[in-house]
Amino acid sequence: MEPRAKSSVLLIYTGGTIGMKPDPETGVLAPFDFSTIYDEFPYLGKLDVELEVINLTPIDSSNVTPELWCELARLIRDNYDAYDGFVVLHGTDTMSYSASALSFMLVNLAKPVIFTGSQIPIGVLRTDGRENLITAIEIAAAHDAEGPLVPEVSLYFQNRLFRANRTVKQSAEEFAAFRSYNYPALAEVGVNITFHRDYIHRPAHADAELRVAAALDDRVLVIRLFPGLREQVLRAMLSIEGLRAVVLETYGAGNAPTAPEFIRAVREAVARGLLVMNVTQCSGGRVAMELYETGRQLQEAGVICGHDITTEAAVAKLMYVLGQNLPAERTQRLLRHALRGEFTDAGIA
Ligand code: ASP
Repeated sequence: MEPRAKSSVLLIYTGGTIGMKPDPETGVLAPFDFSTIYDEFPYLGKLDVELEVINLTPIDSSNVTPELWCELARLIRDNYDAYDGFVVLHGTDTMSYSASALSFMLVNLAKPVIFTGSQIPIGVLRTDGRENLITAIEIAAAHDAEGPLVPEVSLYFQNRLFRANRTVKQSAEEFAAFRSYNYPALAEVGVNITFHRDYIHRPAHADAELRVAAALDDRVLVIRLFPGLREQVLRAMLSIEGLRAVVLETYGAGNAPTAPEFIRAVREAVARGLLVMNVTQCSGGRVAMELYETGRQLQEAGVICGHDITTEAAVAKLMYVLGQNLPAERTQRLLRHALRGEFTDAGIA
């Protein structure tokens, strides 16, 4: 039998802390050129992986826009057949947004796309980036007789692999910067890498052609409730010209004030065609609008239940679904069902 060729992984560098190293003269951190990756990190040559690098213009991820998501999605599509997996190096600040967006935009994905980064630059001795980088590459290349082990968009950080659209950045300081509060890790890394196969999505049609949904509609707003939010302010936000959807960050299990003027403002906005998705401000747990009067009134006003979705995934999903310009009924259907395992429900065929 022919020995199987080495797995191949495409590394796409977008910027962020992971790509920094101190200038030897000034000590100031500057972006690192990943095309010299083997000179800088010769140990990568020990991986049983053919690695190639695309360097995008490095940016701090606070400057990420949906245009970068489209560029990433197209790069992955254009290189899809040539590689077994993809690793995206990205700043941590908005990584969960970008990774969530890619999970929706890459339709029929059947190969690993793994986002990672670091809290300390890769050129600094105590970096967490080295392990994140090496393990993300190993997981992107991991396969068995049936194909890749993690054929979905995921995020690897500090010994854990998560479904990308379930993650949030939870610490600006800890090495374990990301958490997935409502969905278990897809893999855990210690001496060995343990894949939790029951939690990993497997594509229904692995041979279906990868398609990129690059039309995103960014006319989306996040409104976080707080005691004292004035009706006038709420109405002003809900009436922004051209606005198409709102992620309403509510309290606890999806609760909001029952004051008639509050509910009226939401009901009128929904009646005008604004899509309002109820997402809880809590890190863990889910929206259950039928539980309390404070949630039930939102439900009656036509607000869409976000279940246990994160705000990051809700924003990305709304942009993706709205970008398709579908009839209202179909849009509602897509928003009310999980498309990529982004919340826990029965799913959609
Ligand atoms: N500000 C940086 C960024 O998100 C932080 C990081 O990479 O960790 O690009």
